Amino acid sequence: MKRGDFLKAGTAVLLAPIAMKLQSLKSWADEQPRTDIMPVMFTGHGNPMNAILKNEFSKTWAQLGTELPRPRAILSISAHWLTRGTYVTAMEKPKTIHDFGGFPRELFEAQYPAPGAPDVAADTMALIKSTEVKDDHQWGLDHGTWSVLLPMFPKADIPVLQLSIDYYQSPQYHYQLAQQLKELRKRGVLIMGSGNIVHNLGMIDFENKQQFPWAYEFDAKIKGFIDSGDHESIIRYDKLGSIARLAVPTNDHYLPLLYTLGLQDKKDEINYFNDKMDAGSISMRSVLLS
Ligand code: ZN
Repeated sequence: MKRGDFLKAGTAVLLAPIAMKLQSLKSWADEQPRTDIMPVMFTGHGNPMNAILKNEFSKTWAQLGTELPRPRAILSISAHWLTRGTYVTAMEKPKTIHDFGGFPRELFEAQYPAPGAPDVAADTMALIKSTEVKDDHQWGLDHGTWSVLLPMFPKADIPVLQLSIDYYQSPQYHYQLAQQLKELRKRGVLIMGSGNIVHNLGMIDFENKQQFPWAYEFDAKIKGFIDSGDHESIIRYDKLGSIARLAVPTNDHYLPLLYTLGLQDKKDEINYFNDKMDAGSISMRSVLLS
């Protein structure tokens, strides 16, 4: 990715029109692009309909797909694959999983026929030493993965694999697991955590009329911790008390963020996209480290 190009095309969406912020990003744009390491991102996926709607979120994904360096493969850690133990998809042709209900037929008919990446699955199993990662031949691509990749890389010609989330482990465990995968960034693999920083389905307001102060406060706190590199406070989000209990009633959608941050390189620049609340209780804030 040429950073200047990314900024030019993405200014309207990615950057708040604040002079001070633009000033600091200008020097960022003037730097030489890095070619030695793939970006890593956290994508707020939200409503599955974002996969087929042309809205502000999916348009940003589409734009990113044209500006990111073309990866050799994409490794997704989705909020929607929770397991006991850790698995990596290793099939040649992962199926598209429609793991939701109550949506229009058009969404159920959507397919994402990307090839799998058994070679990257083998690399993943070899790199993770803290636990035994097993190969999986049953899962495929759930909507946490394909609802984002369909707008982002619509040709579905980049191999995709998923790493499951062991839902019986602590946030610290997931952060440390991710750190063991840094080598994949050097091998051309784009790693994407897919969830939502604030995700409270019980409070959801599809008419977008609710403005929950706790949602904005939690989202802003986490952004501040990302900005300052305070990953410990992100791992110990429960210390934020009542706002954390409302924003993260269960941590399935939060944990993918820890994978992204665990893969952060000290040279990475931090950028945000889709940093808005949707349906009241879903933060679409997404993070690009590049
Ligand atoms: Zn989800």
